[in-house]
Amino acid sequence: MQAAPLFLDTRLVEIHRRLLAYYGQPAARDVWDPLKQFIYSMLSSRTKTEVTFEVVAHLQKHFGSWEALRDAPLGEIEEAIRGVTFPEQKAVHLKQALEQIAQRCGRLSLDFLSSYRTDKVRSWLEGFDGVGVKTSAAVVNFSSLRRRAICVDSHHLRVTQRLGLVGKSADARETEDRLMEMAPVEWSPVMLDEHHTLIKTHGQRICTFKQPRCTICPLLELCPTGAGAVGSSRAS
Ligand code: SF4
Repeated sequence: MQAAPLFLDTRLVEIHRRLLAYYGQPAARDVWDPLKQFIYSMLSSRTKTEVTFEVVAHLQKHFGSWEALRDAPLGEIEEAIRGVTFPEQKAVHLKQALEQIAQRCGRLSLDFLSSYRTDKVRSWLEGFDGVGVKTSAAVVNFSSLRRRAICVDSHHLRVTQRLGLVGKSADARETEDRLMEMAPVEWSPVMLDEHHTLIKTHGQRICTFKQPRCTICPLLELCPTGAGAVGSSRAS
């Protein structure tokens, strides 16, 4: 029998509460089918959100269908996704994944995943080259599958590390596992999505990569990194 935890770690709940009060309710997501979300997420790493949105919209317009995208020459796909980072590598992985999905499933759709358990969906998606834990979390949580998961992108990872919720060397998988332990079971998939958006917004606006603005941060009292930074600037 598993031992009951000695205390409840409520830091994530408090972080969520403060960010919600500071930034307001995130806009409702335009929920896509799992395949479109999969394509978006394969392209999105290290690329600005608005750029990836534009590229996915361009793919839809240029090719007209995901089947046409799959069957297009690699060079044409590469050119069509030129706006994202690493277009050569992403074009290879995307074409391969679309071909393999159609081969394995008989058609180019991921709707069948709705009958799978979440852990099975995650491992199935992560079997494709170029698909990691962040993409599989995005597909299960953001798409119409709407399962419980937390998508840990680079902003989320950085903010979570600075807040001391995970160690400095934690990767996306370890971070997601830890955050899912801390997230109350009542948090629905939509709420986990909102939590991701709040943390990401915080990483883009205040807890930025180069220069976190700790003095105006609503999380300062909860943050060991911020306490150290503000303390040392006051001492100097
Ligand atoms: S106090 Fe500073 S390091 Fe901590 S979350 Fe806020 S901005 Fe980031």
